Amino acid sequence: MKTIPKRGLDHAEILEQMQQYGGQDVNYHDAKTWSLVYHLDEKHTDFLKQAYTLYFSENALNPMAFKSLKRFETEVINMTAAMFHGDKKVVGTITSGGTESCLLPVLTYRDMARAKRKLPFTPEMVVPESVHVAWIKAAKYFGVKIIYAPLKSDFRVDVEAVRKLINRRTILLVGSAPSYPHGVIDPIAELSLVAQQHNIPLHVDACLGGFLLPFIEKNGGEVPQFDFRLPGVTSISADVHKYGFAAKGASTVTYRSMKYMKHQFFVDENWPGGVFASPALLGTRPGGAFAAAWAAMHALGEDGYQENARQIMEVSAKLQNGINAVDGLTVMGHPNMSVFGYNSTDDKVNIFAVGDQMEAKGWHIDRIQRPEGLHMMVVPGHAKIVDSFLADLEAAVEAVRSNPDLAVEGSAAMYGMIAKLPFRGMIKKEVMTMMEELYSPKGSMPMDGADNPWSVRVMAKLMQRFGKR
Ligand SMILES: *Cc1c(COP(=O)(O)O)cnc(C)c1O
Repeated sequence: MKTIPKRGLDHAEILEQMQQYGGQDVNYHDAKTWSLVYHLDEKHTDFLKQAYTLYFSENALNPMAFKSLKRFETEVINMTAAMFHGDKKVVGTITSGGTESCLLPVLTYRDMARAKRKLPFTPEMVVPESVHVAWIKAAKYFGVKIIYAPLKSDFRVDVEAVRKLINRRTILLVGSAPSYPHGVIDPIAELSLVAQQHNIPLHVDACLGGFLLPFIEKNGGEVPQFDFRLPGVTSISADVHKYGFAAKGASTVTYRSMKYMKHQFFVDENWPGGVFASPALLGTRPGGAFAAAWAAMHALGEDGYQENARQIMEVSAKLQNGINAVDGLTVMGHPNMSVFGYNSTDDKVNIFAVGDQMEAKGWHIDRIQRPEGLHMMVVPGHAKIVDSFLADLEAAVEAVRSNPDLAVEGSAAMYGMIAKLPFRGMIKKEVMTMMEELYSPKGSMPMDGADNPWSVRVMAKLMQRFGKR
């Protein structure tokens, strides 16, 4: 078993080893990835590192001790609120990321409902089927029942269905701007009306689009309203560490007024360690992430964000048009956005096999299910690979079409089966087993693709039980 080395090692030696470990990581520098890293350019990244390092050790746990960090937080929230056309009453907190910005509103609105009336039942929240998984996690963590509203054929939530799912137990409605799987914006204006009519809070999950949509709009693009201009919207989450191009570990949750956010606060007046107050989930809060978020917003400015938005949307349009032009492929829905899924329109083209072919060419590909597809999120750096990506994609589709076996080999077979298998509990059980292995003391790291020992085993097991071939 690995132990702390008896004697500390030489810094240079350690750093070299660490760099070596990164050698097998996905390559975002050459724009081969479509998620995980929102990389602008080296110059911006170097600047963020400087900003982060200035407050590397500072801790926002105690805002009285580090007034600088409180100032960063207040100003990041003020700037975000203004970007969302909020008035002077809008408040919020910096959080550690989108997940925290989705967890907290569930807790907040649950406790707000409890403060108003006894809840002799499990509280419920009505969300689109396409809602980010962070909300499902929140429901699990905080004991709120999640009620899924179906999507229409354009992948936007069916507002009439939402209306019908509301009852006296409903504590929250959620809409996405845009949704992660399909990049479409739910009809937030209509949800806002429903929320007002029923006097239920409405949270807009703009983790992904929050720092992009306002600038597309400023560029003259058509963006349906999703922010505090809509009176039924009570809170918004928006990630500075996505299209805000800050360092990881920074997101925002903003509320229309303190009337809502006060239910997010935690105070324990009796703790032997002292009277304790905390605005969000974390105890120790990393000053570097706060500083880098503040710095990113000042460094880019509206101009910078607008220029990024222009480039991002230009590249996205090229990619979407290019994908639609490939015989057998189509972009799902009509996402006028930089995040989207695409799937196959041809029985002979298995979309997951296309994904395998693309991975063999060095692309890191994300898969989605229900319906099955491949997925991408665009950053300005993708401009340089549009042509090579589309050429590879066209070749991949041809390879799959002319070789049907590719659909039942490698990870395509596994993803296909996982997406279609009606016995969902079986999948969950297998994935749980994988998690236990991954987080066992050995921490065996499954490798990507067909030689993934986990995927091979799961596939073999599932095929044996349910597979036809
Ligand atoms: C990314 C994302 C989240 C979660 O954000 P993390 O920073 O990954 O925790 C939540 N909602 C949407 C729509 C997202 O795209």
